Amino acid sequence: VRSPSEITEALLLRSVDYRDADRVVTLLTQRFGKAAFIARAARRSRKRFGSSLQPLALLSVQVGSGRGALGVLAEAQVTRAFPRVLADLGRMHAAFAALELLRELTVEHEPDDAVFTTAVALLAALDEGVAEPQSVLLCFTARLLALTGFSPRLDRCGLCGKQADAARAALFDARLGHLTCRACGGAPARLSGATRTRLMRAAGADWIGAARFGWPRAELGEARAALREFIEQRIGRELKAASLLPAAAEER
Ligand SMILES: [Zn+2]
Repeated sequence: VRSPSEITEALLLRSVDYRDADRVVTLLTQRFGKAAFIARAARRSRKRFGSSLQPLALLSVQVGSGRGALGVLAEAQVTRAFPRVLADLGRMHAAFAALELLRELTVEHEPDDAVFTTAVALLAALDEGVAEPQSVLLCFTARLLALTGFSPRLDRCGLCGKQADAARAALFDARLGHLTCRACGGAPARLSGATRTRLMRAAGADWIGAARFGWPRAELGEARAALREFIEQRIGRELKAASLLPAAAEER
């Protein structure tokens, strides 16, 4: 953010108390990508930001450059709320898991319109209840991985290049991020042909269509376990246990 004051749409990814009255917020903004800003007096003055500094809402924010690396958040308003996400535990869990993924998989100060649009579409899809929240989250995850350049290789062996038979199960190595055929030594996780086909479809532009299609429970389980492990390998730490695809919400 260079000029003193710019307006952009944003999602709140994280908010941390700072000093006596301030907050440091991490926003995913449309124009400036992921960035941290200081919201002065956010905790002291309710007038300043009202209840607008909340996650799971589309915000319009006015930001400016600060003295150091931190920008300054001058104003924030909710421009679109997703009330049915807040009213349903399963949808809310999925939305928070998506925010965690956005936090972990995006790069600071690298705006990406497709990522931002997809993030807003995720909240809208959960709000409208287009499919089971876990199915929406899983397809969003596959799409986000594709948009951020981290897609696992699910169509062929990553070592010898042999095409995997789409009708049969194949072995997936989350650490290497690709299939490894038996001739090349195999891999720990088994992914059915249907799961791989669905995940590859979800990585495309019509990820919401892939979510609508519905996932049988067994396929959903093996797909999410594979993606979760793959992501944790990429980012070098565990995703919060209660966050990505929580078991409690799955049983709903
Ligand atoms: Zn091979």
